[in-house]
Amino acid sequence: MTNVPTFLNYIDGEWCASLAGATFDNVNPADTRDVVGRFQASTEADALAAVRAASSAFGAWKRLAPAARAKILLDAAAYLEHHADRFGEELTREEGKQKALAKDEFVRAAQTLRFYAVEAQSYGSETYPSDDAGMMVYTVREPLGVVTVISPWNFPVSIPARKIAPALICGNTVVFKPASDAPLSGLRLAEAFVEAGIPKGVLNFVTGSAGAIGSALVGAREVRAISFTGSTAAGEQIHRAASLSTRTQMELGGKNPLIVLDADDIDRAVDLTVKGGFSLAGQACTGTSRVLVARAIRAEFVERLAARATALVVGNGMTPGVDVGPLATAGQLRTVLDYIAVGMKEATLVCGGEQLKHGEYAHGYFVMPTIFSGVPRDARIAREEIFGPVIAVIDVDDYDDAIAVANDSEYGLAAALVTRDAQLMHRFANDIEAGTVKINRTTTGNLVNAPFGGLKRSSTATFRESGRNGLEFYLQTKTVYRGA
Ligand code: NAP
Repeated sequence: MTNVPTFLNYIDGEWCASLAGATFDNVNPADTRDVVGRFQASTEADALAAVRAASSAFGAWKRLAPAARAKILLDAAAYLEHHADRFGEELTREEGKQKALAKDEFVRAAQTLRFYAVEAQSYGSETYPSDDAGMMVYTVREPLGVVTVISPWNFPVSIPARKIAPALICGNTVVFKPASDAPLSGLRLAEAFVEAGIPKGVLNFVTGSAGAIGSALVGAREVRAISFTGSTAAGEQIHRAASLSTRTQMELGGKNPLIVLDADDIDRAVDLTVKGGFSLAGQACTGTSRVLVARAIRAEFVERLAARATALVVGNGMTPGVDVGPLATAGQLRTVLDYIAVGMKEATLVCGGEQLKHGEYAHGYFVMPTIFSGVPRDARIAREEIFGPVIAVIDVDDYDDAIAVANDSEYGLAAALVTRDAQLMHRFANDIEAGTVKINRTTTGNLVNAPFGGLKRSSTATFRESGRNGLEFYLQTKTVYRGA
């Protein structure tokens, strides 16, 4: 193993090694012989140093003119866009997604920074009528303080960008911990802010395992808010561990349904299922994982879906023409293969169902796009998040039955209906228990200028992320009574 670059933490304005001096390696999931980088295996001492730095920097950053904060976001956006090709290739190497999608993620992160640079300069407060003519009553909105940002590996730039940008522009300071399985893209995001001249301590970047630094980042006395995206299990644990005075925003798992009821909609539904369920190898929180199909059209739907799924090209995301990349981690590969084994007992395997191990696949985490049909409603593969290229096709009788099955889930992240019936479109938007409702679109995908989040165990039932709503989490309100 030669020339593996070592990457540092960024704490209190300095790129620095972990105090304990330990590191960990991150490998390419398409070819595990390729070591992408060596990262700091930080300890609690590093995490607490980052929190202290963020706390010390807060006062001055809060007082800085909003336009000066915005300039830093705009310059960071320009840096990300300028380097999007190179950073995108690094993202493909560390996480597996196709090169074009990886580059798009950096471009989208830049868009997010620009959106908040402008949007946050226009939030207002309110004045209130008062019986006392000599008294003015109004609210002021101010930042919270130190915010911990914890992100997953599946969107290692765009997700932290939509947390860090609103946090900073509102005047908060940040400690950012990326996923240990894709830390380099997060580092590039931090680097963009450093290159844009962010003052020391305002943004701190710390790599290391959740076990080693998670509790310090969640439990430190100075932390006023935690914005987390990841698994429901971890999110619920962090939410419970946070103190009463620490705000939490948890964006968690999903088991997202797509519904198709009419024979004339089959081709469109197949297309949306393939795109929503198999792109990113099924590793999107909003990925289509259940397809609820009217019994009368199920055979035809499954036949056409299987034809499309088996034609997908699985391979290294760096190779042009690849439709489905590898699973991102060894753990994810094990989980997906375990669920496929469960599915074999619960339902009928239509296609896929195997790990690819020969030739170009020998050193990567590749699984064939997999479809199960005749999946019982209470099957584990119908109810639990798999987070891989595995789709469960479930029979339904009609629209009402489809809604009942769709809503019979602990999750409520995204859902889609394929239909040309305008009445049904409106009914669906009202009936479905999901934070993101799609009609004739994939369950995946959301805009940087629109709110995003889930219902039930897919999110904390408090603040939405993204768009103008995304600012609310990072601001608190004071009411001022000003006498003459
Ligand atoms: P994960 O295992 O929960 O990890 C997410 C992040 O949290 C990582 O940085 C991880 O660190 C850290 N972490 C885990 N446990 C922690 C703890 N107790 N305290 C502090 N930090 C902790 O999730 P993942 O496997 O990376 O991501 C996949 C999951 O994310 C899926 O469930 C998916 O649905 C969900 N997701 C949700 C959304 C959304 O917006 N709703 C978007 C994308 C993904 P380490 O890497 O060091 O373990």
